[in-house]
Amino acid sequence: MTIFTKIIRKEIPADIVYEDEDCLAFRDISPQAPVHVLVIPKKEIKSIADLAPEDGPLVGRMMLAIQKLAAELGLEPGYRVVTNIGPDGGQSVDHLHFHILGGRQLGWPPG
Ligand code: 5GP
Repeated sequence: MTIFTKIIRKEIPADIVYEDEDCLAFRDISPQAPVHVLVIPKKEIKSIADLAPEDGPLVGRMMLAIQKLAAELGLEPGYRVVTNIGPDGGQSVDHLHFHILGGRQLGWPPG
């Protein structure tokens, strides 16, 4: 179990901006942009590398939640969706999460 499961269970506080039956979105504790939100499935999945074929519809619903959230967060000028996978990918919490980053011009490529 990771810290994100504790956030899902409301055992530790988070600034939750969206919740439905299978996903949760909350502001990152260490924001890297004016808007930095994490979207996570309530199901415990480590990363994209651990997705099962039956998780496809869940991930699709998460993408649609991201689309809706980005509009609500005022990100019409553009934004970035990132998911880090494993040590080389820079993943620090082993629960699948999509970062939504925006509110400023973002640089490319990432480090
Ligand atoms: P990763 O490095 O795994 O791609 O992203 C994990 C993210 O979770 C980081 O951006 C980090 O700031 C955020 N994070 C870690 N612990 C907490 C927490 O307890 N609360 C919130 N809101 N964000 C967290």
